[in-house]
Amino acid sequence: MSLKIGIDVGGTNLRIGVVRGLEIIDKKSFRADFSSIFSENSADIACNTIVEILCEGLSDILNRHEGISSIGIGFPGFIDPQSRSILSSPNLPGLNNFDLAKTLHEKIHLPVQIENDALAATFGEYLLNNISSSNGLIYIGLGTGVGGGLVLKGQAIAGEHGFAMEIGHIIIHPNGRICGCGNRGCLEQYASATGICKSYSELEERHISADEIAKQAKLGDLSAQQAYVIAARSLAQAIAHILKIIDVERVIIGGGVTKSWDLMQLDFNEQLNLDLIKVLRGKVQIDISNSQDQAGIIGASFIGFISCEKSRN
Ligand SMILES: [Zn+2]
Repeated sequence: MSLKIGIDVGGTNLRIGVVRGLEIIDKKSFRADFSSIFSENSADIACNTIVEILCEGLSDILNRHEGISSIGIGFPGFIDPQSRSILSSPNLPGLNNFDLAKTLHEKIHLPVQIENDALAATFGEYLLNNISSSNGLIYIGLGTGVGGGLVLKGQAIAGEHGFAMEIGHIIIHPNGRICGCGNRGCLEQYASATGICKSYSELEERHISADEIAKQAKLGDLSAQQAYVIAARSLAQAIAHILKIIDVERVIIGGGVTKSWDLMQLDFNEQLNLDLIKVLRGKVQIDISNSQDQAGIIGASFIGFISCEKSRN
């Protein structure tokens, strides 16, 4: 069975895995704060730095494993469906039209494919949950930002311009908080870890991490509880909107924020029931991911492998 590599580029961490079948047989994870790299350097320098970090991260993995067929990268940005360049990334200022896959391929001489990180994670969840190709799946990742993806009839749907399922940028609160995409009131500004911190700091005028807010919420801090309620209700509104447009049976919610799902579940269910069309109530299975962050790596590796097989044929 061939080996393939999946790379999951997160907000502050980079994770690389060697995948055989649906199993990650070797993995490394290290801190790589791409947001700081882009905010502190010119775009050219920042792009070169990203490539250097990836090459360095891959070097010992490639030395340890023979027979790697392909590399897939899940990247937090908008990917052009034709050229496969990264068009832009809301959290990486200055990144425009960068062909990371081609640049990395020229350095390591293996087929490289890039896809939006949330879409890669969606495909990973689809595979890991053994979802039938006749069912659709919507995945929503609540991390530093909010990403989403759709798999329909076994296909990861990127959209004709690469912007499909950008659920993080659905406007939930008109004239709300300014977002990295240039609009105001996007879901990401309320339901991501960053958004939860913003809700808390608006209520308490101090900034603590989303994990610390969760701890405080469990100790009875009303502002901390409210920050998670805002996240839960905003998320439910967005999911209800999407289900009215894309009527699928399965929704999976993942990402670091779901560690504190117990703080969100009741309000989420209540708001979803309020906002869903009556006929859809009770007909959609909504689960919290149990892939332990493996879906991003596995999905990226398969997207890389499938694209490499297509270009061979
Ligand atoms: Zn936005």
